[in-house]
Amino acid sequence: MPKCNMAFKQVIQFIQEKFQSKGFIPLHAPSFMGNERKYLMDTIDSTFVSSVGAYVDLAEKMVAEISQIHKAVAVVNGTSGLQIALQLAGVQPGDEVITQALTFVATANAIHYTGAEPVFLDVDYDTMGLSPKAVESFLEEYGELREGGTYNKKTGKRIASCVPMHTFGFPVHLDELVSVCEKWKIPIVEDAAESLGSFYKMQHTGSFGKLGVFSFNGNKIVTCGGGGMIVTQEEDLGKLGKHLTTTAKVAHPYEYVHDHVGYNFRMPNLNAALLCAQLERLDFYLKNKRQLAHEYIDFFEGQEIIFRKELDNTQANYWLMSVELENLSARNAFLKATNDAKTVTRPIWQLMYRLPMYQHCYRDGQTNAVILEERIVNIPSSVRI
Ligand SMILES: *Cc1c(COP(=O)(O)O)cnc(C)c1O
Repeated sequence: MPKCNMAFKQVIQFIQEKFQSKGFIPLHAPSFMGNERKYLMDTIDSTFVSSVGAYVDLAEKMVAEISQIHKAVAVVNGTSGLQIALQLAGVQPGDEVITQALTFVATANAIHYTGAEPVFLDVDYDTMGLSPKAVESFLEEYGELREGGTYNKKTGKRIASCVPMHTFGFPVHLDELVSVCEKWKIPIVEDAAESLGSFYKMQHTGSFGKLGVFSFNGNKIVTCGGGGMIVTQEEDLGKLGKHLTTTAKVAHPYEYVHDHVGYNFRMPNLNAALLCAQLERLDFYLKNKRQLAHEYIDFFEGQEIIFRKELDNTQANYWLMSVELENLSARNAFLKATNDAKTVTRPIWQLMYRLPMYQHCYRDGQTNAVILEERIVNIPSSVRI
């Protein structure tokens, strides 16, 4: 044990050096060093702070350009974006949706909002995201391809979508996942909330599924206070997404005509202004974080604590960086030592089926998810200016 504490002290010292502070070091703080103030003032001066304004269109264009995805629809937050993306993928009340148990609760909540039930499958140990092998074995055991799609033989329900989540910006094994889901005709909706700026074989995450969703919450790689973006290569789906998230109003000079039960999930122009300024800085953030990641990699080289690196053929955004401890008690000791020293660290999420509202949901063996749940800790990852 003393040997361990010694190692923890060195980690804390290293992080304090890197962030040039002996005080409170947050896990991930946003930074506003570009045009944020200017664009925000512009919305106020123009009075276009709310649902109409040029920054919403501009932010959508910028995200489409960055991700090389045809259509981007700005929404009020990532969770609402996921809910609508699932509906656009055809998810209906009473369906089942495959996802991972090792995720932030919003993934499961968005599935629940559509009236569908999450099915929790294991993650891969290397990506920490949904395992194509787990999906394949689940479908081989329970799946039956019928006319309207794949059904779960045991429950009789339709398996309407598959939602992989790119944990901390590390892409899942997308080629394998896409091929399993194609075989079973199950549309993928990528929860890419954490992976703006992450690529798999040079292609941006969020572009592999029928739809993808990014988040711009306060703790994400770029933030606009709160916001999200639905992305899709399909023009029609993008248009329908815009329509549904803006109260489904039919264009008319003055009459109020609505042709669906729409949602008020639009992103205010005020937030979009902030987002445009942040997106201008994305390249700088990515380089800055990659530099920090390399410093962590060098430091943790050969140590008992393992720094989690991007895999071959992928480029991670290194949004939240993470280390793997030997076991649960080492993890707990590390969390206590670092947080006592005001160096903020946080454990990875509890598995979704441990939460009261998702306890009844189907889950597979979860071998890797349980190991990662017990060992993975996030360490300070802010952009350094
Ligand atoms: C942040 C996040 C979301 C939700 O995004 P919000 O914009 O906060 O609603 C969804 N899924 C994952 C994995 C996230 O990390």
